[in-house]
Amino acid sequence: METPSAQRRLRYVIIGAGMAGLLAAIKLQERGEADITIYEKGDSIGGTWRENRYAGLTCDVPAHAYTYSFAPNPDWSRFFASGAEIKRYFEAVAVRYNITRFIHFNTEIMSCTHTTAGWELTLNDGSHDRADVVIAATGVLHHPNIPALEGIEEFAGEAFHSARWKDGISFSGRRAGIIGGGSTGVQLLCALVEGADHVVHFNRSPQWIMPVKDFAYSAEERRMFRENPQLIEAIRNGEEYWNGVMRFNKAIIEPDSPEMAEIEAILLQNLEQSVTSPELREKLRPTYRAACKRLIYSERYYESIQNPKAILETDAIARIEPKGVRMKSGVLHELDVLVLATGFKADRFVRPMTVLGQNGADLNQVWAKRPTAYLAVSIPQFPNFFLLNGPTGPVGNFSLIDIAERQWGYIEQLLEPIRAGRFSQVAPRPETLADYEERRKVAARKTVFASGCTSWYLDDEGIPSTWPWSYSRFAEEMAHARLEEYDYA
Ligand code: NAP
Repeated sequence: METPSAQRRLRYVIIGAGMAGLLAAIKLQERGEADITIYEKGDSIGGTWRENRYAGLTCDVPAHAYTYSFAPNPDWSRFFASGAEIKRYFEAVAVRYNITRFIHFNTEIMSCTHTTAGWELTLNDGSHDRADVVIAATGVLHHPNIPALEGIEEFAGEAFHSARWKDGISFSGRRAGIIGGGSTGVQLLCALVEGADHVVHFNRSPQWIMPVKDFAYSAEERRMFRENPQLIEAIRNGEEYWNGVMRFNKAIIEPDSPEMAEIEAILLQNLEQSVTSPELREKLRPTYRAACKRLIYSERYYESIQNPKAILETDAIARIEPKGVRMKSGVLHELDVLVLATGFKADRFVRPMTVLGQNGADLNQVWAKRPTAYLAVSIPQFPNFFLLNGPTGPVGNFSLIDIAERQWGYIEQLLEPIRAGRFSQVAPRPETLADYEERRKVAARKTVFASGCTSWYLDDEGIPSTWPWSYSRFAEEMAHARLEEYDYA
């Protein structure tokens, strides 16, 4: 590789100062690039960990695996870190790598327009900027899904989405309701049930629960991690973690595999052994296959839902009334606080930003049917516009940091001929993406995500918009870019 000084200098604009945006800036700086700007519409870094601050928020990927490979953290306080601790980790990394100087907070990019001179950007204050390369690191689960529940405006208590948490809110002695039984709703129920007067969990499609063990690291263990980084490496790159990832991955893509049978047996045993009341057990028994929806890892859900202060409500909601939630059965649950753990509009990605590529291509129209990108990273007619954690990437219970790092390595390869001055822009060929999409959809239909449930993984035709092959294949594809599949100009 030529040294950066011998290479063409490019101007990079990164959209979003979350995990992936910070990663891109650190990596660019590391290779000697200096013309970098990160635009962040919020007032602080952290992305999803800034937006989500709900009670009980943790990451169900082990903390040492949910860490940049180049910035291990011996100080994680627990096996599964809390959202607040993860946000502090990203803030500390940004300071340590001196990249906060690149960030413009409270600045939203309204449009990106491709011109003969590269990308022209319009910001929310009306000003303009330009870039040779745009990195969209805008996250996936970003725009709250607020269900159209009749009467929600008339609720007399406090109602808000889990990603619009009311800091400082007290549940002590109050009657709380949580709508939604995904990872968020489950974590919330476990966190709120002790302090509240009671909590009604409106969980119309209870999920399979993978039992896990969370634990605190002692001061002595943290000292050992500091003194011997190999101990951290043994967790993040050790057999136990990766065997688990590979087993889960095989189960997803081959739902009739022994790996899936093994997972199903664990989940079934967890349900049978953890829930004592036969009636409650049946209400909690999912009607679809394990991992069809994103698998929930929880140490405490079954215990918490059996707390006398918890009420599981699986009936459909008829409407919201000033006093609470009225079920189709006619039952009214009177509540003081209602949390909507109802998920996100997962098909937005960079939108609502306007992105106009070559020949007037409008990303909103290109993505009208479903968002997609070649290998989840780039889109025909949108040269030098790259996505981190874009559509069709691996989803499931993986570390999105590992995914973004591999994607970054791939983008670096695509940029090499441009940095070397041979070309000024790159985009995948339309036929490359068309062929990829065709193969991807065929494989996606065979994954467990398509086995008969609803989830945010599915597109409008019910096809999972996910990476449908093995994780090893993803790693392999990212490690070896085939530049011949791209149009360089
Ligand atoms: P979600 O998985 O999309 O779950 C949304 C829940 O809301 C579902 O139970 C859904 O029921 C319910 N719901 C939606 N509309 C409803 C309505 N009108 N009436 C009743 N129920 C309704 O959302 P999430 O729990 O926020 O999780 C989203 C993703 O965030 C996760 O899959 C995961 O990727 C990520 N996450 C990760 C962690 C972590 O620890 N790593 C923690 C939290 C979130 P149906 O299923 O019946 O539609």
